Amino acid sequence: MELIIGLTGGIASGKSTASQYLINKGIPVVDADKIARLVVEKGMPAYESIVAAFGEEVLDRDLSLNRSRLGDIIFQDASKRELLNSIVHPAVRTEMKRQAEEHFLAGNMSVVMDIPLLFESRLTHMVDRTILIYVPQDIQLQRLLARDSLKEEQAKARISSQMPLEEKINLSDAVVKNDGSKEDLYQQLDRVLTEWNIL
Ligand code: ADP
Repeated sequence: MELIIGLTGGIASGKSTASQYLINKGIPVVDADKIARLVVEKGMPAYESIVAAFGEEVLDRDLSLNRSRLGDIIFQDASKRELLNSIVHPAVRTEMKRQAEEHFLAGNMSVVMDIPLLFESRLTHMVDRTILIYVPQDIQLQRLLARDSLKEEQAKARISSQMPLEEKINLSDAVVKNDGSKEDLYQQLDRVLTEWNIL
């Protein structure tokens, strides 16, 4: 049976590390963040709708979307933010489904969808099962600071703007605790996939 697995976590919890491991194992991963950037590229359907809704002032000279200008607009105005989401979110969902279907048609039995805000955005209907990459907050903060050049206050604000990882534990079918080595993370992923008859 074809299976769609939703992979989620929090910022810097190890989703990309887990995704890369799964890709190396031959399991296709559909990446929600990448697709969110793809659907607003020039010529894509969401791009046209954004230009129609926000005007050409959100475009750069090369006609690509100026994300920081758009960011400024929606930061100041909740209704504009909703308008943008109402354009981008359906386009992301459609493209994710299309890519998953492509992987199934190519003969894959399982596809992983890497969706950072799986629970916050109520997207669990898109997946059959969920894996949470959980990390305790102190390690999450350390790894976030080591990866991105953020001040500690900014990093803390980003972590606390998301649903606490503890709350996501009860919502997930499998929890992988990423507080040890990467090897330890990979072994736990193997265990879940074996249990689900994917490996
Ligand atoms: P996410 O995709 O959830 O934001 P990443 O996979 O980018 O998180 O991981 C955040 C940072 O922590 C990255 O720099 C990554 O290399 C590092 N990292 C992830 N897991 C581990 C681990 N088990 N041990 C050490 N560093 C890790």
